[in-house]
Amino acid sequence: MRTTEYFIATQKETPADAEVISHQLMLRAGLIRKLAAGLYTWLPLGLKVLRKVEQVVREEMDRSGALEVSMPMVQPAELWQESGRWEQYGPELLRIKDRHERDFCLGPTHEEVITDLVRNEVKSYKQLPVNLYQIQTKVRDEIRPRFGIMRSREFLMKDAYSFHADSESLGATYEVMHRAYSNIFTRLGLDFRPVIADTGSIGGSASHEFHVLASSGEDDIAFSDQSDYAANVEMAEALAPAGERPAPGAEMQEVATPGVKTIDDLARFLKVDPATTVKTLVVNGEEEGVLVALVLRGDHQLNEIKAEKLAGIANPLTMADEDTVRKTCGAGFGSLGPVGLSIPVIVDRSAAHLADFTCGANREEAHLTGVNWERDCALARVEDLREVMAGDPSPDGMGTLQIKRGIEVGHIFQLGTKYSEAMDATVLDENGKSVTMAMGCYGIGVSRIVAAAIEQNHDDRGITWPAAMAPFELVIVPLNMHKSEAVAECALALYQQFREAGVEVLLDDRNERPGVKFADMELIGIPHRLVVGDRALADDNIEYKGRRDDEAQLLSRDSVFADVMRKLD
Ligand code: ATP
Ligand code: MG
Ligand code: MG
Ligand code: MG
Repeated sequence: MRTTEYFIATQKETPADAEVISHQLMLRAGLIRKLAAGLYTWLPLGLKVLRKVEQVVREEMDRSGALEVSMPMVQPAELWQESGRWEQYGPELLRIKDRHERDFCLGPTHEEVITDLVRNEVKSYKQLPVNLYQIQTKVRDEIRPRFGIMRSREFLMKDAYSFHADSESLGATYEVMHRAYSNIFTRLGLDFRPVIADTGSIGGSASHEFHVLASSGEDDIAFSDQSDYAANVEMAEALAPAGERPAPGAEMQEVATPGVKTIDDLARFLKVDPATTVKTLVVNGEEEGVLVALVLRGDHQLNEIKAEKLAGIANPLTMADEDTVRKTCGAGFGSLGPVGLSIPVIVDRSAAHLADFTCGANREEAHLTGVNWERDCALARVEDLREVMAGDPSPDGMGTLQIKRGIEVGHIFQLGTKYSEAMDATVLDENGKSVTMAMGCYGIGVSRIVAAAIEQNHDDRGITWPAAMAPFELVIVPLNMHKSEAVAECALALYQQFREAGVEVLLDDRNERPGVKFADMELIGIPHRLVVGDRALADDNIEYKGRRDDEAQLLSRDSVFADVMRKLD
């Protein structure tokens, strides 16, 4: 490709509204352009990178035995009503109506669509397991789109869904996916960690996220300095209670509440009127999707929370997923959805503010009375918990914990029967008995990877792509090409030779000053550069410089092709 026939859209100035380096460099190098908040156009150069990532993902998915499909982006509301997520998903789900006023959404994910497909197509355990994937645009109306394509409202995801006759088979495919993901991120040249993830409101038994370590990451990762142990530390920012703070009344006490399963049971147990005493404590988080720790003060709570959290085990004693919180009217951990964490409580005294209250103890048949919001509760601050946690022994007994920031680029999940049960996806087992299929889902943020790679691979001159992601492998920069016949002839001959060898080579044939060309090509981050100039040519030399090299070197005209081909290997 010649630059004069290509779309080079580099910019000198750092765009004012781009906070993180990857966003700045993607705009400056001319990879993307903003259309509206969280919506970006991929320019030719950026799309080339994106397609490379996509191809690595596709190859490794195919190699793992998964089969590619393509599902519609527009999804009927009925399926989401069947799974219950039409209500639960909240405003991140972009809903639309067709001309007949029927409800649809733009797919943020495809569990419903794939479950519908598989329940119709697969009838026998003999057809299982099956793992289907697609690489497709997803739409999420993110509350705060930012960092360019890192958190955008339209993005490219690889999503896979596996179906199984039993949980052993699910576990086996989960391991295969775990390995495939490690292969993908290794091939892409990223410094990544698989981390134990919270199974949050989806439930299910096992989940790992794959994080690219970078200071701009939005997640905190706790990992051992001596083993492979790593976990996502999902915590919320502190939330200062607004307004007046009521004085504490009675002491907090845990009481046994046999048979009490719901907040109405609790009201009856306490002999109070549910209509007037049941309130919902709503904790609004800064962002959707984060976990809030409502820590009940006392020695044990914080320690247990952090220990269990890190072990990735939902212990109902100290924390619970949203369902458990609801069931036990609990306090403790809850998954904060777009509407916030809501904990039903019973208010002991009538008060304008939430004063003392009774709530669940996050275990069945036990509740806490006399809880005071100000005295007993605190939302865990990220910084506080980070401080408490860093330096702790790793839960696997090896080394101590360190906390670093990570960018979530992949997520694998054993869903179990959450969707298949709600949507009645069954097969006949070997005894002719109907069984609900077990399910796994596996996502990769294909477009986010591009930004994450830049966060890890840049210097003060621009992007330093890992080889697998570079838009071009080699650039040939002729100096004074338009005046020197020798230069033009040599540069064109080399260009031809590399092209014929299948190298993705760019010839910078623009009539620009050398400094401008060098700066552009370094900004774009092409890994290898040859400079053809009269002075070196007089000695039969051509200058070579690797994008990460400090110094250029001279290669002889005779061996330059072979030398560079070796470097490209
Ligand atoms: P996050 O925690 O960053 O919001 P998520 O947990 O909501 O991500 P998943 O539902 O696990 O995302 O989706 C699979 C993958 O899709 C994520 O691991 C991430 O790499 C990518 N992804 C999710 N949301 C976005 C987004 N708004 N922009 C770009 N990529 C995204
Ligand atoms: Mg999200
Ligand atoms: Mg996440
Ligand atoms: Mg995720």
